[in-house]
Amino acid sequence: MSQTLMVTGGAGFIGSALIRHLINNTPYHVINIDKLTYAGNLESLESVAGSERYGFEQVDVCDGMALRSLFAKYRPDGVLHLAAETHVDRSIDGPAAFIETNVLGTYQLLEASREYLGTLPSEAQAAFRFVHVSTDEVFGSLGAEGFFTETTAYDPRSPYSASKASSDHLARAWFHTYGVPVIVTNCSNNYGPYQFPEKLIPVVIQKALANEAIPVYGKGDNVRDWLFVDDHARALHRVYEAGTPGETYAIGGHNEHSNIDVVNRICSLLNDLRPGTNHHQLITFVTDRPGHDKRYAINATRIQRELGWQPAETFESGLARTVRWYLENQAWCQRVLDGSYRLERLGVTGAES
Ligand code: NAD
Repeated sequence: MSQTLMVTGGAGFIGSALIRHLINNTPYHVINIDKLTYAGNLESLESVAGSERYGFEQVDVCDGMALRSLFAKYRPDGVLHLAAETHVDRSIDGPAAFIETNVLGTYQLLEASREYLGTLPSEAQAAFRFVHVSTDEVFGSLGAEGFFTETTAYDPRSPYSASKASSDHLARAWFHTYGVPVIVTNCSNNYGPYQFPEKLIPVVIQKALANEAIPVYGKGDNVRDWLFVDDHARALHRVYEAGTPGETYAIGGHNEHSNIDVVNRICSLLNDLRPGTNHHQLITFVTDRPGHDKRYAINATRIQRELGWQPAETFESGLARTVRWYLENQAWCQRVLDGSYRLERLGVTGAES
């Protein structure tokens, strides 16, 4: 019988890419568990929602009782945990939701998994996997040199990264203390289709298309290591199938670019696709984000060597695909931008505003 995977946060940016990948490329049944916050949109799953191997449950991962019923109902072979509050600027304005979902929600899911594991026969227990999906932001900020690896010490700086770091520690503790077969992944910045238009790349595209000022924090010299979202989905699939419980895999694209470089590339692509406007003229430098980490970069040698994963997309091809997708899917963007978020600046503390 085909395996059943529980994916939390499957209506979000990476979760929906993962579910589309799993339904299209594996025989697995996938149960999407999502609260549908502002960031969750079932429309991102339209292409696979008709599959008999896909199911959806609108549940908050903080609700331990509801999680226990889902484990009893679906009897999954594994969990891929992506549900989280994810936007650093929002974590500065309102950290509470980040502590609740990212820390307490992860705790509830680990506990429900542990209890469920106790009901399984020993072979099923041994085969079960809990993939905890995290970020490279837990490692803090790099200087001009060096890379994050699986052994880099944690040094989170924002409420978002601190909440993710806490959840990583809980996940590892549930492996060491209770034997839950947890695998942790720490991935660099993702980009691609279906990303909620509050993160850098979709914000720049939306602002440029609206002929509005494109905000660039500080001098735009913060560096991020960009990974195309479908490459991350393939990496998570590989980690689920071949990763070793108790281990960590750093995932990244070897695509380091400063924010201003990314913005300039998007403007150049739009100048070609939408001639008539010089989109570079819209670039506007604004007050930097408080505690803005300077540079993130991942050394992904381990997952390449041990699990045979490597990114398929270059930054050039991935960015061009992404810009074209947003141009062709403006209706999706308008529908997900509900009344609570209108591309306004978030995450400025009183001191800087
Ligand atoms: P996202 O914000 O696009 O989606 C998050 C999803 O989680 C949404 O569908 C939302 O409805 C759901 N959710 C939020 N709170 C929930 C709750 N209490 N219960 C159930 N569902 C809830 O996020 P994303 O960018 O797709 O990130 C997914 C995961 O990957 C996160 O854990 C994030 O920390 C991690 N990650 C993201 C990146 C990135 O660049 N976006 C990089 C590395 C790791």
